[in-house]
Amino acid sequence: MSRAIGYAAQSAETPLATFHFERRDLRPDDVAIDILYCGVCHSDLHQVRNDWNNTIYPSLPGHEIVGCVTAVGSDVTKFKVGDMAAVGCIVDSCMKCEPCCEGQEQYCSHLPTMTYNGKDRRDDSPTYGGYSDHVVVRDLFVLKLPDGLDPERAAPLLCAGITTWSPLRRWRVGPGSRVAVAGLGGLGHMGVKLAAGLGAEVTVLTTSPSKEKDALALGAHKVLITKDRPAMKQAARSFDLVLDTIPVAHDVQPYMHLLKVHGVHVIVGAIEPLPSVHSMLLVAWQRSLAGSMIGGIAETQELLDFCAAKNILPETETIAIQDINHAFERMERSDVKYRFVIDMASLKQELSAEAAATA
Ligand code: NAP
Ligand code: ZN
Ligand code: ZN
Repeated sequence: MSRAIGYAAQSAETPLATFHFERRDLRPDDVAIDILYCGVCHSDLHQVRNDWNNTIYPSLPGHEIVGCVTAVGSDVTKFKVGDMAAVGCIVDSCMKCEPCCEGQEQYCSHLPTMTYNGKDRRDDSPTYGGYSDHVVVRDLFVLKLPDGLDPERAAPLLCAGITTWSPLRRWRVGPGSRVAVAGLGGLGHMGVKLAAGLGAEVTVLTTSPSKEKDALALGAHKVLITKDRPAMKQAARSFDLVLDTIPVAHDVQPYMHLLKVHGVHVIVGAIEPLPSVHSMLLVAWQRSLAGSMIGGIAETQELLDFCAAKNILPETETIAIQDINHAFERMERSDVKYRFVIDMASLKQELSAEAAATA
């Protein structure tokens, strides 16, 4: 076992604070990664607050991990010490079921092992995420960070990026597609950049008129303020896909009115009961209401390579880990442009200071 340090919450009511724990010894198919950066996802906040009633405490979040390989198990051939690597939301799955065989490990019939708030498939130990100094992960679930991708800004691609990329690919967005992205936060701003990068015409649907200028700078062609009813009415039946990243329960009907015939409203944000939908909104135009969860390992690598080739990167604000609770408060107020990334040097300084104090 190796000693590790991170930031964890001990209950839904307590802030994140320094937490000492152990990472497993390397198995033959494991990769050890020194974590350099970790993005801050709204799911981290949902999880530590127990919004989904399934949190295992201590809760140590973080699933947008970028770092450097420090050791590899005896069977690992894909990575060597010194490689830049990345880890997203899942760290294992059965690799035998139909979704796994199709490269959709996130939909594993036996459930994937989540990077945090999960249980290791082999020894049942709790999984702890990337708000920590290092991590040990099965090689098949480690991504290669392409050369030329800034490691700090790339971190949010591992969740915000892949969660928006997967539905854009699933519903074949490309030149000629008209895509609306609802909610301009961590996920939403990546949805805009990626849809625009794929050649679509992109509109942002936002509750924040102050974000209009940013939306256009991110690559959106138009902005609709969702409270502006006449503008929403005018946009009726004009989109092929609505990518809905809103993090709380909401009425999807005003958004479904915006879909063309065969249009798809895909929910990636709210994971909770939603107000009911009048089926006429689906039936009359053969529309679909769909959902999507993160993405598979191969498509995450495809996304990283696409972003490297097209020079697409998240907009980030770097924080020290000691500021994480304040960052959560700001995220709750939608006050983040557009993803916080923790510089893990701040955690390592804390560790050195602790060591000096006890010496
Ligand atoms: P975020 O950075 O906080 O962004 C959410 C955005 O939604 C806000 O910036 C805001 O944009 C809009 N919004 C916030 N509250 C709203 C409300 N009450 N009504 C309407 N719009 C509201 O969050 P995120 O990290 O992008 O995550 C978004 C959601 O996706 C979270 O619930 C997260 O748990 C979930 N998620 C799901 C997956 C998956 O696999 N499906 C993966 C990652 C995250 P405007 O100011 O533009 O309105
Ligand atoms: Zn996430
Ligand atoms: Zn499986």
